[in-house]
Amino acid sequence: MHLQPVDTGWIEVICGSMFSGKTEELIRRLRRAQIARLNVVIFKPKLDDRYHAEQIVSHSDQRMESIPIEQAAEVLDRIPKGTQVVGIDEAQFFDSSLVSVCETLANRGIRVIVAGLDQDFRGQPFEPMPKLLAVAEFITKILAICVKCGNPANRSQRIAKSEDRVLVGATDAYEARCRRCFSPEPVPPSRPVDSPVDES
Ligand SMILES: [Zn+2]
Repeated sequence: MHLQPVDTGWIEVICGSMFSGKTEELIRRLRRAQIARLNVVIFKPKLDDRYHAEQIVSHSDQRMESIPIEQAAEVLDRIPKGTQVVGIDEAQFFDSSLVSVCETLANRGIRVIVAGLDQDFRGQPFEPMPKLLAVAEFITKILAICVKCGNPANRSQRIAKSEDRVLVGATDAYEARCRRCFSPEPVPPSRPVDSPVDES
């Protein structure tokens, strides 16, 4: 971000595949806001309780307290007066009203930082991320490393046998893969699931 807006809210989106470090980047920005003594509130979807029910947790085990919610509209009901920065993790798990919620917050002068998967396991745009990307002032797309060939990876390869669009999981269910190594159909893992993964 080269020019920081003044006296206005805005929307920042951090997107990418699984294991690209989206939550880590979200936490980095929110921590810096806290250090600047800004009032920060963080939300996450209730359905994502992989690591902790009330914290957002990066794969590198950085954590921040958050409010678990089911519907995007709950954000508007639950932000305390005086909130200056709102962080939202795993945005792809929210309904499409998240877009208008983020716009409402930004229009009220709040800095909104949203992290989420931009593609589903078939490589298709994962709503509501495409619309958020369209209305955001700042977009950061980060890449993982393809586990098969080492190229920059922007796809989440499903390695669990499920056709459900929402399958909450990590190394047991997905691998980061590049365009060349990605398949829109679930495939067997490229290595034993229990082996250590470099998720940096
Ligand atoms: Zn590859």
